[in-house]
Amino acid sequence: MSKPLKQSKRSVRILGIETSCDETGLALLEFISAEDLEPVQGPKAHQDQHSPDQSSVKWRARLLGQALHSQTDMHERYGGVVPELASRDHMVRILPLLEECLDQAGLASQNIDGIAVTQGPGLAGALWVGTSFAYGLGLALNKPVYPVHHLEGHLLSPLLRWADDSSNSREEAQQARFPFVALLVSGGHSQFLEVTGIGRYRLLGETIDDAAGEAFDKSAQLLGLGYPGGPAVAKLAEKGIAGRFRLPRPLLKRQGLDLSFAGLKTAVLTQVQKLGGTEALLAPDAKNIQARADLAAEVQAAIVELLCEKSMVALDLTGHKQLVVSGGVSANIEMRRRLIEAARSRDACVFFPPPALCTDNGVMIAWAAGLRLLTSCSAVGRKAGVSREQAVRPSPSASASLGSSMQVRPRWPLEELG
Ligand code: ADP
Ligand code: MG
Repeated sequence: MSKPLKQSKRSVRILGIETSCDETGLALLEFISAEDLEPVQGPKAHQDQHSPDQSSVKWRARLLGQALHSQTDMHERYGGVVPELASRDHMVRILPLLEECLDQAGLASQNIDGIAVTQGPGLAGALWVGTSFAYGLGLALNKPVYPVHHLEGHLLSPLLRWADDSSNSREEAQQARFPFVALLVSGGHSQFLEVTGIGRYRLLGETIDDAAGEAFDKSAQLLGLGYPGGPAVAKLAEKGIAGRFRLPRPLLKRQGLDLSFAGLKTAVLTQVQKLGGTEALLAPDAKNIQARADLAAEVQAAIVELLCEKSMVALDLTGHKQLVVSGGVSANIEMRRRLIEAARSRDACVFFPPPALCTDNGVMIAWAAGLRLLTSCSAVGRKAGVSREQAVRPSPSASASLGSSMQVRPRWPLEELG
């Protein structure tokens, strides 16, 4: 018989597994009620997890173990992720990474209370590796498995609070509270959402072509930089001056919250061709070195301006005073600086994940699953065909039921979550 988590249990350990793209990420999080950590101060501190005040997250996490392998070196020579290679690499890495994670925690696998796994969206083959591993582990350990939406993992990562961070209570006032505007910017997605609670997401606008991370990656390729392009462009941009080469800001002046980055990539290509092409630009003379840096600075400036301006439009349109930014591109320092500055002028706040949790990782998957289970919101995927009962108690001992509950969702709109 499987053992569902007891809601009354004060600490819960969840293993998070992420294999949607080119990172194999595992993490073991222990969830602890904030009530158990903070001194009781006045009526607010007495509210329990299911009280009417659902505006903020009242759980804290302790990181017991974390192991991550990034495949970027393997994909670099191809200029992007090769799906078949990604799946094979996840298969080779996943078990040693689990062992590493458990070693760090000093725990045996039986001490895990539940297993959270990215079910989608992402590369089908890569998702199957994590999902079948998670269900196999659940079956072997007799533990429940929780399917997680990858983008919800990103989206909720800025809400993460560490149990052993003494600055938590001081920062409490600065903790993001529902409702807020979320900007999700990764290699595959660029979206604005209105978030009114866990699982309550309304799409406000999204890219009509490439994602912001993709624009960084493709521009980086044209500039002869490695993959992933975002960090490489940002580094080179430090030595360059934006504005020398003027790139377009597609849809900037158009009303609404749709984004577009494809025209930017074409403009970078045209500019690189004018300068003699990528090969020629890589010749190490002073003129080329400066031209590459100036172009990198302009690429970053264009993407950051588009995201900042539209983020402010999103705040204005919704009337919310909080912007929560996540996904790989949220690691960009220049974007963080510009967003904080712009929000301040509107008396608004911006929240980001810790830099190490911006790109894909197992922590955000465990965190998203834990929040869904431990707060009063429904379990993941109600509308997507996974009932709360299935998610909380997928009967791992009954292998016949695996067929119906074990699935991957390479395409899975976030708004389908309930
Ligand atoms: P996905 O989930 O789509 O794989 P991730 O959330 O893992 O995407 O983010 C990867 C993307 O983030 C890549 O496109 C990468 O170029 C971009 N990225 C990572 N760090 C930075 C940075 N410092 N500046 C800009 N983009 C970045
Ligand atoms: Mg991601």
